[in-house]
Amino acid sequence: MVTIALTGGIGSGKTTIAKRLEELGGVILDADVFAREAVAIGSPALRQIEARFGHGVILDDGALDRPALGALVFGDDEARGVLNDIVHPEVRRLTGERLEEVLRDDPAALVVHVIPLLVESTSNYDYEEIWVADAPAAVREERLVESRGMSLAEARARIASQASDEERRKIADVLIDTSAPLDQTLEQVDEEWRRLAAVALRAPETQTYGV
Ligand code: ATP
Repeated sequence: MVTIALTGGIGSGKTTIAKRLEELGGVILDADVFAREAVAIGSPALRQIEARFGHGVILDDGALDRPALGALVFGDDEARGVLNDIVHPEVRRLTGERLEEVLRDDPAALVVHVIPLLVESTSNYDYEEIWVADAPAAVREERLVESRGMSLAEARARIASQASDEERRKIADVLIDTSAPLDQTLEQVDEEWRRLAAVALRAPETQTYGV
């Protein structure tokens, strides 16, 4: 099993790339899905969040009120740290469980771990390669406004709250240019995937756990 990380800023094209990689045979693990699962209704992590942040962060149906929690931790490093200490271990556990399953099903699997906040959340990059979906902030702003219905101010604030393009480029083994026309981006993805598959074949003993 070979595991790569796929990261990129908001609106950079991670989902588009991951979809293509799945079509090419990759096994996609999405950190956002595990993050939601970690705080599902009735989960121990959600109970800890309620105990720490109050009943106001729980909706009537028992689910997490994300905007309410977001407002409490926004700009408060200590509160954010407390939240991360509750959620991250659970996300790691769920990811590890899923990786074990994938390894059992197909020891030669090529796994793509989609982690939007890779740069922001760790400096311990245990991956065969890191792929970064890369489009300048101005291009992403435009896409967020056009296709997600955000205001320009909202798009800018969301982008500014994340790591910079430069910070992501620094950790990239592969930069996927997502400011190009879509068919060119997909061609680059196909090319990189063929290269990675060849690397994986030459190193069948490689087992990288990206957690
Ligand atoms: P988020 O972080 O918000 O989940 P994302 O990184 O997953 O976003 P996508 O949803 O994949 O980003 O892509 C953003 C938009 O950019 C999509 O509407 C996609 O079709 C469009 N797009 C246009 N050109 C490209 C390109 N060359 N590569 C990737 N996406 C592109």
